[in-house]
Amino acid sequence: MNAHFSEFLLPDLLMRGLASEGYETPTPVQEQVIPLAMDGVDLLVSAATGSGKTAAFLLPIMQRFLDVRAHDGGTRALILVPTRELARQIHHHFMRLGSFTRLTAGILTGGESKAHQVATLRRNPDILVATPGRLLEFLEGGRTDLNDLEILVLDEADRMLDMGFADDVLTIIRHSRPERQSMLFSATLHHRGLSRITEPLLREPRVLVINPVREQHPDIGHQFLLSDGLEHKQRQLLWLLQHETFEKALIFTNTRQGADALGRFLQGEQQRVAVLHGELEQRERNRVMGLLHSGRVNILIATDLAARGLDVPGVERVFNFDLPRSGDDYLHRTGRTGRAGEAGMALSLVASTEWNRMESITRYLNLSFETRAIEGLKAKFKGPTKRKGAAKSTAAGKAKAAGSKTETPKKKERLRDRKNIGKRREPSSAPGMEAGHAPLVKRNKGPSKVGG
Ligand code: AMP
Repeated sequence: MNAHFSEFLLPDLLMRGLASEGYETPTPVQEQVIPLAMDGVDLLVSAATGSGKTAAFLLPIMQRFLDVRAHDGGTRALILVPTRELARQIHHHFMRLGSFTRLTAGILTGGESKAHQVATLRRNPDILVATPGRLLEFLEGGRTDLNDLEILVLDEADRMLDMGFADDVLTIIRHSRPERQSMLFSATLHHRGLSRITEPLLREPRVLVINPVREQHPDIGHQFLLSDGLEHKQRQLLWLLQHETFEKALIFTNTRQGADALGRFLQGEQQRVAVLHGELEQRERNRVMGLLHSGRVNILIATDLAARGLDVPGVERVFNFDLPRSGDDYLHRTGRTGRAGEAGMALSLVASTEWNRMESITRYLNLSFETRAIEGLKAKFKGPTKRKGAAKSTAAGKAKAAGSKTETPKKKERLRDRKNIGKRREPSSAPGMEAGHAPLVKRNKGPSKVGG
């Protein structure tokens, strides 16, 4: 990737924004999306969070609006997103990249004051960043319209579908001017409901598969640790938090109650921890994010929904206290670390009841996992007994790592595998997981959801 932003012939004002952000070379998604988007082509893009996709759609939008100013004051670009956090992040990104321009953007999401948003709309921002529910309320209440819309972006479309926004999104598409340019970004293009939206949305789209779901994040290591249940997991996690070095850590639970309970436990153990879940009031969520950004807390416990789209610099560890429900969720969670080329580590605590799901995720994502064990906190559960090969290999070659043992049966092979994570390759088996799995040959044959 040797391209430079100057090749896109972006206006000077945007080049200054890029320079002040310190962006030197475009990321792969930017390299492919920006020229096509500037040509007005409809796009269907699979790109992960953390790939630089936000600038990939913001820059062409801003370029067009800088070149062609004349318009009557309606919204010219709409960016639809699943969550308020993502809306705020995109807005923030816009404010930074566009800081030398006079372009304007507004946010329209649930959980914020409507009066404030009505005032935002009155100022006729060039770009609206919105969640579907609140925008639809405004559209149906006649407070805004999309008659002047030139560009429509759907970001994290797979997650919008998971959150049940399909009908709202379809209604919004119907409200928007047919002569628009549309771009859809999704972590995966294999989501079951996606075609329902792409058909009415896109005209002869170019399909760009930038980061195929299983080939992203070469900079993340994946480990798992066997556990005997809730209390054992708590003690193991506490040990890890106390003994590992990291700037910030994210811990995922599958339920809000689980997040709260773990938060209470870790606070009781004097950890600097906060909890984020979907039921919190917006003001409280903002406060929690502020604590994490400022470093007052260095550990955030979150559910999948709450953490969607979070982009917090310095997250060096992601812990799955509960194993995620699907391989895609595993990717979304672990994508919070290893952002923009930094190295990260994802560690999953796996109880016997989660073992099958762990195997499915491993196969689906074709990931190499390293097994960990903490001296004095080893699980009685050793994995299914039929895995003789696994037992043998974990007994071999034990490497010591900061008081814990990283068991490395096939270290060389694994290191080679890890280097190759970003490339297409024959599936290799994870240590302790080699017994009897058919290799996954085609990515799109894999289940989009695995396990419970
Ligand atoms: P995104 O996938 O848009 O959420 O971006 C992920 C992170 O990468 C954000 O923190 C961006 O600020 C950063 N980023 C985006 N594009 C570039 C670039 N060309 N060079 C360096 N960092 C970038």
